[in-house]
Amino acid sequence: MAELRTGTVVDKAIVSATLMRFRLAPAAGARFPDYEAGQYIALRRDDCKLTRRAGVGSDGKPICEPEYDPWGRQTVGPVTQPYSIASAPADTAEHGWLEFLVAIEHGVHGLSGRLSEVLFGTGGETGGEVRYHDRIAGGFTLSARAGDAASVLMVGTGTGVAPFVSMIRELRARDGGGDTRRYTLIHTARTEAELAYDAELFEIEAAGRFDFLYLPTVSRPPQGVDPSRAAGRDPRIGLGRAGNVVRHVYGLPTAEEEKQTRAISDVTKVAAELAVERLVRPALPAHVDAAELGARVAPGDTVLLACGNPASVADIQATAERRQVRFERDTG
Ligand SMILES: Cc1cc2nc3c(=O)[nH]c(=O)nc-3n(C[C@H](O)[C@H](O)[C@H](O)COP(=O)(O)OP(=O)(O)OC[C@H]3O[C@@H](n4cnc5c(N)ncnc54)[C@H](O)[C@@H]3O)c2cc1C
Repeated sequence: MAELRTGTVVDKAIVSATLMRFRLAPAAGARFPDYEAGQYIALRRDDCKLTRRAGVGSDGKPICEPEYDPWGRQTVGPVTQPYSIASAPADTAEHGWLEFLVAIEHGVHGLSGRLSEVLFGTGGETGGEVRYHDRIAGGFTLSARAGDAASVLMVGTGTGVAPFVSMIRELRARDGGGDTRRYTLIHTARTEAELAYDAELFEIEAAGRFDFLYLPTVSRPPQGVDPSRAAGRDPRIGLGRAGNVVRHVYGLPTAEEEKQTRAISDVTKVAAELAVERLVRPALPAHVDAAELGARVAPGDTVLLACGNPASVADIQATAERRQVRFERDTG
């Protein structure tokens, strides 16, 4: 087991009620191990409210409940979890810190995530301490996954964008480093605020130091008859969940429409109709031309890297397989 060290939070930004970014400086006199963009590190706090597994829900997910000591107080103890590094190796070489994008987990049964709750609270405040295992690991890197593909299509949902932010930042730091590949990043978040890195990624795209197209979409746009025209919407931001955006790029109907076509019984037909009615249809950002994008990520010379929500990633994998696009996912 790698040595356990104590780092210090040097910067924290609350992105939304459930999302934050923070930077962690290494233990005094130490530096973080060298890493490649796309890797992760294990973080730990010792003051997490512990839970115990009380069973398995009908959805197959664990049912957890608070763990109490004999005096009826919730037990507090250590929890360690892996987090993707969102900073680039070049940032860490220059400033020393690692950056993370962390979502607070609200378990299906109402319990907050043990570690993410503490990181959101005082544990993650500037000056707060966060322990880390002094080892950076993971094989979700461009050198391991992109091979000789001329085009790399990255798809991140929610905090699943973090490894891609690290890769894009590293490419920027090296001015592309002679890399002539086409990089396209689709990032889907629930709201515009939760895109978290959009300003920086638009800037990198505009600087044109390497071939990069940034394609953000939101899955919960402001309510309206036509969400693509809702007041105040940034036209550079598209619409739809990641799985449906990828389907759209490769000329497939949305998952909801496919379910509706396949529905046989009255019950499944009604459920499918409702899902289609509520669907936020995928729409590309205003400046992205569908035909040009299709050519940019053509199946023959593209590798699709996906990271984030497991259900979305599974749907994206199915699309990649149907269109014979080489597919790679973050498996930790
Ligand atoms: C390679 C990798 C990279 C990751 N990168 C990121 C990242 O960049 N950002 C990010 O936000 N997250 C990331 N994660 C997820 C992260 O590691 C944590 O799983 C997440 O933050 C939730 O941890 P938690 O302790 O807050 O939640 P937990 O307390 O672990 O709760 C999460 C779920 O686990 C279940 N659970 C709770 N208690 C127990 C128990 N005692 N026994 C069994 N199950 C339990 C509950 O169903 C709950 O819904 C990454 C995961 C991996 C594998």
